Amino acid sequence: MFKVNDNYLKLPGSYLFSTVARKDREFRAAHPDKKVIKLSIGDVTQPLAPAIIDSLHKAVDEMSKAETFKGYAPDLGYEFLRNAIVENDYKSREVDVSADEIFVSDGAKSDSANIQEIFALDNKIAVCDPVYPVYVDSNVMAGRTGTYDKETGLWSDVIYMPCLEANGFAPELPKETPDIIYLCFPNNPTGATIKKSMLQDWVDYANRVGAVIIYDAAYEAYISEADVPHTIYECEGARTCAIELKSFSKNAGFTGTRLGYTVVPKDLKAADGTALNPLWARRHGTKFNGAPYIVQRAGEAVYSDAGKAETKAQIAYYMNNAKVIYEGLKDAGYSVSGGVNAPYIWLKTPDHMSSWDFFDYLLEKANVVGTPGSGFGPSGEGYFRLTAFGTYENTVEAIDRIKKM
Ligand code: PLP
Repeated sequence: MFKVNDNYLKLPGSYLFSTVARKDREFRAAHPDKKVIKLSIGDVTQPLAPAIIDSLHKAVDEMSKAETFKGYAPDLGYEFLRNAIVENDYKSREVDVSADEIFVSDGAKSDSANIQEIFALDNKIAVCDPVYPVYVDSNVMAGRTGTYDKETGLWSDVIYMPCLEANGFAPELPKETPDIIYLCFPNNPTGATIKKSMLQDWVDYANRVGAVIIYDAAYEAYISEADVPHTIYECEGARTCAIELKSFSKNAGFTGTRLGYTVVPKDLKAADGTALNPLWARRHGTKFNGAPYIVQRAGEAVYSDAGKAETKAQIAYYMNNAKVIYEGLKDAGYSVSGGVNAPYIWLKTPDHMSSWDFFDYLLEKANVVGTPGSGFGPSGEGYFRLTAFGTYENTVEAIDRIKKM
C-alpha cells in the first residue's frame, strides 16, 4: 500500500490566502447588497501594457507558421530574454551577472519553493518573521523542518528573525548560525526595505559563516529611494553567497502570464567546493521544460523603450494608491509603515486587536478585505497588510470607508 509524503501532513490549517478568500466568499454570499473591496492578495489589476501585448501578438503569429514556429524552449531560457535581463537589470547598474547565470522560469513562487531542493536536508534555514509563507512551507514539504507548535506558531529547526517596529521591520543577524538565509526586499508583507549598507552586512555575514542567501527581489521595481539596493549583487562579495529571485509579476503585470528568473552566480560554491550553478541547471533541465516562447517574447518587450515607459507608469499608478492608503490611514490615526518602496502597507491594528479580529472588523464595518499579519508569522500578530494593487477608485473608496469606521 502506498504512503504519502507525511511532511505534507505537518502543514497546519489551510493556506493563508485560501482562508481569506473563504471568509470573503462567505461574507459576499451573506451580504449580496454590499460592495466588497479587496485590498488583500498581492495581485495586479492593470492590464498588460500595449508594448507587451504587441509582442505577444507577434509571437502568437510566429507560432502559426512552420518557418517561425517554436517548440520546447532552451532549458535556461531564450538568449534574447537572458541578454535583455543582463543588460537592463544588471549591466545598467554596473553589476556583474552574465547570461549563463540567468535561469528563466514561470515565476518567483515556484523558484522560491524549488530552490531548496539543491541543498542538503540537514541545512538549517533562517527566515524573517513575518515571512512570505512559501519559503517555510516548501522546506516543511521537503522535510527540512521539525514540528509545528500551534501555541507559538513556530517550527522547530527553523531560525526565525523577528521583524518588528523596533528594528524597522528589518531582520538582525541571527544568534544561531543558519545555512540558508531567506531575505526579501522590498518586503512582502511589511513593505519595509533595507539600505545597501545593511544588505552588505548580510552578505559579509553569509560569506563569513558559509551560508547562502536566497534573495527575493520580486518587488525591486517599486524602489523609490536612492540608497536602497535593486539587486543583492550591488553588494561586494554577493557572487559567492547569494542567489537572486526575480519576477515579472509585479513590475509588468505577469501574475497570470507567468514569468520570472533566478540568478545563480558561477562563483557560488558549497563547503565542499560544489558549484550551485550547474546543480540548478540540472534541476531546471530535468524538472522544467521552459517558459513559453510567447511569454518570453512578452518579457523581452518589458525591456523595450515603450515597455519601460508603460510599466513605469503602471508602477506609479500603484504607488499613488500606496500613498492614498498610507496617508489616509495616518490621518485616521493608524500606525503605518511600508508603501514607499513597496506596494504593501503594514498597519498596526487598533486597540491591540488581533490580526484576524481586525480582518473580521474591517470586513464587517468597511466591507474591505485585507490580509491578517499573523498569517505571515507570529511577529505579524497585531498587524495587517493592505495592498496598493487595487484600482485607484476602489482604493480611495476603501480608505474613505476605513476613515469612517
Ligand atoms: N515572492 C514574493 C515575496 C511574493 O510576494 C510573490 C507574490 O506575491 C512572489 C514571490 C511570487 O511571484 P510570481 O508571481 O513570480 O510567482
